[in-house]
Amino acid sequence: MGNNRLRLNELTAQLIKRNIEGFFCPDKASALQKTLTLIPEKATVGISGSLTLIQLDLIKSLKERGTIVYDQYLEGLSRKESMALRNKGACADYYLTSANAISAKGELVFFSAWGNRVAGIANAGKVVVIAGINKISVDLQSAMKRAREYVTPLNCKRLGYASACAQDGICRNDICLFPEHKRMCCQLLIVEAEITPGRMKVVLVGEELGY
Ligand code: SF4
Repeated sequence: MGNNRLRLNELTAQLIKRNIEGFFCPDKASALQKTLTLIPEKATVGISGSLTLIQLDLIKSLKERGTIVYDQYLEGLSRKESMALRNKGACADYYLTSANAISAKGELVFFSAWGNRVAGIANAGKVVVIAGINKISVDLQSAMKRAREYVTPLNCKRLGYASACAQDGICRNDICLFPEHKRMCCQLLIVEAEITPGRMKVVLVGEELGY
């Protein structure tokens, strides 16, 4: 068994203890197919901003088969329309997202600017998290460090945020406050476990995806 598969199988066993179902997919194509089978065609779906979802072509695939996706990233939407779709997404049948980091013991770390991702994970009927092997960190502390000091500066740069890290990629948490900076790390969610059986699933991919 390859190293990646072994690591992801071990993580799947940790997730089961947390009432979270994990699936191993060796690559993007199998992760896309697996995720499509987890979501019924007639379900409504909320999404978070995620390079992983884009790389999988997941949102396009869901729309093409007729699933209703509350897509706040459609071109030409006003801020009000975009926020309304985020709100609908947070109450959808399914919420789709990636994690910023996952500890080897199965704790899931999510950072959010607007909070819709936090709301969707907490509130949607079911949640599917898709994560590449690069998202796994040895423990919760290093997962938090990864999310804050590696992932968020890259996202700030990609999205043109006026945060304190956007220029040089170095987090300056203490001074990254309004009005001088537009902070991206506004809401932090750590999922330690899921109380409802079958509600949360994690598709673990044996390739690097997203940041
Ligand atoms: S706290 Fe501010 S500077 Fe630090 S990673 Fe978040 S957005 Fe960047």
